[in-house]
Amino acid sequence: MPPISPLFDQEKLEKRAKNHNLPAFKTKQIFFELFKNQNIHREEMTTLSKELKAELQSEFSPISLEIIETVETHDTTKFAFKTHDGHLIEAIAMFHRQPEQHRKNNQSKLNRITLCISSQVGCPAGCLFCVTGKLGFTRNLSRDEIISQVLYANRRIKQKFGKKADGTLRGIRNVVFMGMGEPLLNYENMKQSIEILLAQERFSLGRRHITISTSGIIPGIKKLITDKIDVKLAISLHAPNQKLREQLMPITRQYPLSELMKTIDLYVQATNNRIFYEYIMIRGITDTPELASQLANLLQGKLAHVNLIPYNTNPALDFLESEPATMQAFKNKLEKSWITVTIRESMGRESKGACGQLGWEKIKKTAQA
Ligand code: SAH
Ligand code: SF4
Repeated sequence: MPPISPLFDQEKLEKRAKNHNLPAFKTKQIFFELFKNQNIHREEMTTLSKELKAELQSEFSPISLEIIETVETHDTTKFAFKTHDGHLIEAIAMFHRQPEQHRKNNQSKLNRITLCISSQVGCPAGCLFCVTGKLGFTRNLSRDEIISQVLYANRRIKQKFGKKADGTLRGIRNVVFMGMGEPLLNYENMKQSIEILLAQERFSLGRRHITISTSGIIPGIKKLITDKIDVKLAISLHAPNQKLREQLMPITRQYPLSELMKTIDLYVQATNNRIFYEYIMIRGITDTPELASQLANLLQGKLAHVNLIPYNTNPALDFLESEPATMQAFKNKLEKSWITVTIRESMGRESKGACGQLGWEKIKKTAQA
């Protein structure tokens, strides 16, 4: 069993605090250090008394992961973590900067920071184009392992950027479940971690700033409706017909495309939320004009936005990225049917493409061994 921190569970927290003779205001001090001051280690929490730090060491330890590597580029910070039972997972912070033409004095202004997080070690869905899929499935991440990725990222952002002119700290404002794993196959832990991301005394993120990305796990989407989990939903569609989707995403056999589209309709009726469809552009496989027409038919009249993702090439897999002109023609065809479309821009490509590359490193190491 991975360690469970009572800090993320109000009921347990109150019970433990009582057992430890810890008054309520002291737990608030811990929250303040963790979520507002973005500290995660006891030594850094200078506003806490010695006694309270001792409590933290014994039972209130907030962190369930060990950081093993941080890789920085201009636009991203990639985190590699080790779980208590020795597995590797990853998260990637993406820095969205103001476009060059809008900058004053040539200074690049940081608009917002998004964190791409993992929900499982590996993934059981086995999509053909995905490195995580190739790793297979090891286990679900616990709620605390999911939350720890965000806590670590906030601490790193504080170290990297320091305080803003107004004295406040920058932090993660958007979280996307687009790292390793299928979040709707780890439903309960995903749900509980979303509650903590939204909670005012914790991360206090806006609903529209959290995205669940799924390969189309129908029972999971139905649960989102019943539980009224009203965050952004992205569907990894990648093919507009059952035959091709089955070939690329074997999970389609279990959850057929027609059923998936009906379930999405129910979700849209219940929430009135626009759905973001992710569609991977693989040369000669998903990018033909015929498939663009089929996709336009499938999404005609729906509350939808399509995100065309240039396939991120990887030596472990056999596909090629579509030509830019092919992607543009595909986009034009959808737009003719009044569907809004974006092609993922290069920054997003590098960083989001990187989400999954840790898996590749692991495959390489196993092969070498
Ligand atoms: N399992 C969930 C969430 C994680 S995957 C899902 O599939 O939605 C996040 C996104 O990256 C998915 O849309 C996935 O299809 C895409 N992806 C996976 N491998 C990719 C690759 N090689 N190139 C580009 N996108 C990829
Ligand atoms: Fe799993 Fe998503 Fe990768 Fe498919 S694309 S194998 S569902 S992580």
